[in-house]
Formats: sequence, structure tokens, C-alpha cells
Amino acid sequence: MLTDSFDAFLFDLDGVLYVGEKPTRGAVEALERLRSGDHELGFLTNDPRPSRQQAAEHLDRLGFSITPGEIVTAGFATARYLEEEGYESAYVVGSRSLKKEIEHRGVRLVTDRDPSAVVIGCSEETAYEDIRRASLLVQDGASFLATNVDASFPMPEGRWPGTGAIVEAVRLASGQEPVIVGKPEPLMFELAAESLGSPERIAVVGDNIETDILGAHRAGFAGILLSDKPVEDLLPGDPRRPDARIERLSDLFDEGCLLSTRETPVSEWPGRAAPGVGAVVLDGSGRVLLHRRRVEEAWAPPSGRLEPGESIEEAVVRELDEETGLDVDRLDFVGVMSDPSYQVVTYPSGERVQFITSLFLVRSSGKLQGSEEGLEWGWFDPKSLPSPLTAYARPWIEEALGSTRAPGP
Ligand SMILES: [Mg+2]
Repeated sequence: MLTDSFDAFLFDLDGVLYVGEKPTRGAVEALERLRSGDHELGFLTNDPRPSRQQAAEHLDRLGFSITPGEIVTAGFATARYLEEEGYESAYVVGSRSLKKEIEHRGVRLVTDRDPSAVVIGCSEETAYEDIRRASLLVQDGASFLATNVDASFPMPEGRWPGTGAIVEAVRLASGQEPVIVGKPEPLMFELAAESLGSPERIAVVGDNIETDILGAHRAGFAGILLSDKPVEDLLPGDPRRPDARIERLSDLFDEGCLLSTRETPVSEWPGRAAPGVGAVVLDGSGRVLLHRRRVEEAWAPPSGRLEPGESIEEAVVRELDEETGLDVDRLDFVGVMSDPSYQVVTYPSGERVQFITSLFLVRSSGKLQGSEEGLEWGWFDPKSLPSPLTAYARPWIEEALGSTRAPGP
């Protein structure tokens, strides 16, 4: 049974312990049974509305006995994040409890003047005016924090709009990407694990593969899915793939419910794929052009996205012109690079995109004409490339140079 495989369980709340005002079938008894054994328990919710005290009181009304200190809410995690990152003031869209939680960490709440951060939570009272103000403050330079990005949450009559729906409104209006604090980012799992002793084997039990299971795997824990439907269409290495599926919490004690053997999870699994272009640029002496954003960051060949309406040739020439100002003497198509082991790029927002890159070999005799601010450029002998290199640099260069024929007349 699954209880034999773990020393501690972290439970998601909504959809796992309850739906609305009703506990899920057998949940109260299953937790009591786990507590009477040797298992340590922790609780996690992406709901940023209640304080930990309020969440514990809600659980108490449903028949659970769980203390506030055992619960990590997205609001609590956001408040800790603001404190640890040194934010001094925040404009908060969300419940009174979320605001209190943040204030309690020494962050000043402001409504009009330049806050250092805008925090998006969720409350039944959120109005257009809150979203308008948040969008304007983010455009004016405040950091944009999302307590979570859950699009909706389950209620007995259907799904209600969640924090993610409000985050999306601010994102679309401001054109800025948020930093996400809640699941599936690891912070909440780390905070929940802090409240445990030091168990070796931790499993997260959740009802959502995109937040609970993916987040568990990113944090290094196992993920057990509570669902009456099987998970389909996920590849073996996909970190959203649960290690086990149960239909009710009492199944944790079922002799027939066991862990699936899982491939090593790929923590950099992409959320989507996108078309891109790349260039291995050679000068007259056969040296390769590479750039890096900052000292100590990885060196990379020039690359970019394909914009709608462009051909791949137009895209690579445009990217080279924007980034380097170099003249293109000759452009040869090398091939399409798609291997996810080096084609996945992680953005500061945490978004992971797998680029399907049309790669070109470019010969240029021109001079670098300045470049995008902050970029450092260099020409390198392909036999002694600098380090560190981005994951895709070497495969691209090998593919491009391997495909080289002697330059034409
Ligand atoms: Mg849930």
C-alpha cells in the first residue's frame, strides 16, 4: 500500500480534502488513520484568500483537526517571499486576510503611490478598479507577483474564476509577465516541508496534475493524483505524470494501490513549443560568433523567434540585423533542431518553451555594428569554444559545421 512507501504526506486542500463545504468521501477518517500511524502530515493550498487560521477553522467545521501551523497557503507563501526578497511596499489585489498576512511580514500596504510590488490574489470583492490600478502600477515599474495562476477552482455547481483569471487580466493589460509564488513553483512545497521533521520519503496528494503533481516533482517529492479518471496522453518522462492514482483517500491504505515505476522526471519539461531561427555565423577566418548577456552567463549563437508572416529566411536575417548589424554574405539552411534535451529555454517568469529552430549557416565579412544593450559578442575558433556554453550551442555548431561544404565561388 502507498502508506508503506512514504514517511510524510503533503495534502492539497481544495478538491482533495473538500469540495466547497463538503469533505470528500472518507477524507476525515483517512487523515485520522494516518495520524495514528507514524506519518507526518502537511497541507498546501493555492487559495490566497484565507489566512492559515481561517483555513484551519474551515477544516475544523468540516470535521478535520488540523492546526494553522500545518498549513501553507499561497498568501502565506507570498508574504514570506516579499519579506525574503526585501520588498518594502505592495499594492495588493485580494482578501483582507492576504493583506494582513503581507503587512504582518513588515511590508507596507499602499493603494496609489509607487509600490515596489503588485500582488494579485483573489477575493469575491475584486472589482474592475482593482485590476485597472494593478495594471497601471505594473506598467510604472512595480514587480508583478501572482499568488498563483489557477484559472478556476471547483465548486459544487461548477468551476469559479480563480486568481489566474485576474492575473491574466493584468498580464494582458500591462504586457508584463508575473513571478508566480504558488504551486507548481517549489516555494510552497519547501515551506510545507519545513514544518515537518526530516522525513526521507515525502509524497504530495493532489487533484491537479499541472500544479500538485508537477510541483511535487519539481520540489523532489512523489506525486499522487486523486482522481476518478485515468491520466491520458502524457509521455513517460513528463513530470506531470503521477506516481500513483487513487480515487479516494482511503485508497492510500489499499493493498492493490502501488507506486508506478517512473522514468526520471524531466524538471525542465516545456509548457509549449514555438518556432524559432538560429544562426551559426562564420567570419572570413572560420571563427564562430557567440554572445552572452552578462559575465558568467552562457555563450550562445544568435537566435530568435519566427514572427507571424515571416519566412524563416526573413526571420534569421532580421534577427541578425537587430542583434549584430552584420551583413549576410551567404545563407545556407542547415536543418531543423527540435531535441528537447537542449531546445528548451526557461524564461525568468518560469515559462519553459521548446524551440523548434530552423538553423542556418551564415557567412559574413562585415563588422559588428554595435548591438542590443548589455550583450557581449566574440568570435571564437570552433575548436576552442568558450565556457559555459548554452545547451544548444554545441549541437548547433556541430550540425552547421558538419554540413559545411567548401564555400562556393
Ligand atoms: Mg486542488
